[in-house]
Amino acid sequence: MKKKHVIIPVFVPHKGCPHECIFCNQKRISGQIEEVTAEKISSTVESYLLKAPRGAFIEIAFYGGSFTGIKKEEQFSLLEVAYNYLKDGKVNSIRLSTRPDYINEEILEYLKEYNVGTIELGAQSFDEDVLYLSCRGHSADDIITSSLLIKQYGFNLGIQTMIGLPGDSREKDIYTAEKTIALKPEIVRIYPTLVIRGTYLEELYKKSEYVPLNLEEAVEICSELLEMYKSNGINVIRIGLQPTENISMDGDVIAGPFHPAFRQLVESRAILKKIENVIVREKFEGKNELIIRTGAKNVSYVVGQKRGNINHLRNSLGFKKVMLNVDKDLDDEIFIYKSDGNCWVEV
Ligand code: SF4
Repeated sequence: MKKKHVIIPVFVPHKGCPHECIFCNQKRISGQIEEVTAEKISSTVESYLLKAPRGAFIEIAFYGGSFTGIKKEEQFSLLEVAYNYLKDGKVNSIRLSTRPDYINEEILEYLKEYNVGTIELGAQSFDEDVLYLSCRGHSADDIITSSLLIKQYGFNLGIQTMIGLPGDSREKDIYTAEKTIALKPEIVRIYPTLVIRGTYLEELYKKSEYVPLNLEEAVEICSELLEMYKSNGINVIRIGLQPTENISMDGDVIAGPFHPAFRQLVESRAILKKIENVIVREKFEGKNELIIRTGAKNVSYVVGQKRGNINHLRNSLGFKKVMLNVDKDLDDEIFIYKSDGNCWVEV
């Protein structure tokens, strides 16, 4: 059985960040987030360890801003705490996130000494115009150089991308995914751009100079990207910002394709597209009924939110009946039944 993965999040506010990415409200939030200290990390880790299931894979994750951009002494004191837990065998791994232009050999040398396992890069896009219009302050080449260096040093590589930034398009998102896949990251995150209170993007949005993606567009693009990563064996660990008290339409999200179950919408859409492709390829259209066989854990994705996929198969593809056959021997594989051939066709 797969080990349970417990992530102990340590939010490191990046007060000294000299950048002003158009979508980020760090200037606004930096004064409000409590300083992270060695003592606070220890107490967070201890509280997670108390609740962690036996045998779980436990990882301390430094989130927020750009870890390797903060003062070196501060980095060392935070890493020291995590490293001591690692040495004592109480946690299994350390991960952190940073900017592509805050990686060099010297930085990777000391991260190796502290046994950091995974470095996630906020890449956002490989399109130079999108990077420029988002005020990222780094180039696509910076992403490639730092990613190659991270791999060369033996770290796991994570790449975070965004869709719907100013100047972005579906084609550019696909290009970004292709460039990302070529770097062979272990993990990827995809975030649709949201207009967050206190950001420059909010000003542009209010002046009608920025139009966010709508939910349907974001789900459609993300489902395409998800399939690209999956078919290349890359683990997409997150799609869409995690809903919190602040990240909600009643909180700091002013506009954009926010949905509390965004990933589920994307997974469902990706499955629907695969089913549709097979229906067309195998010439199922016009038949009265469709039988879909899959594993129990996949049922909600196949059915879709508010039975959206089933309704689409009925209304748009004309099946009078769509039946689900749950097979306990299946995991996420999907088959549809071809009655005239008396066989199951894998989706
Ligand atoms: S996204 Fe990162 S680099 Fe950009 S302003 Fe925010 S903290 Fe700084």
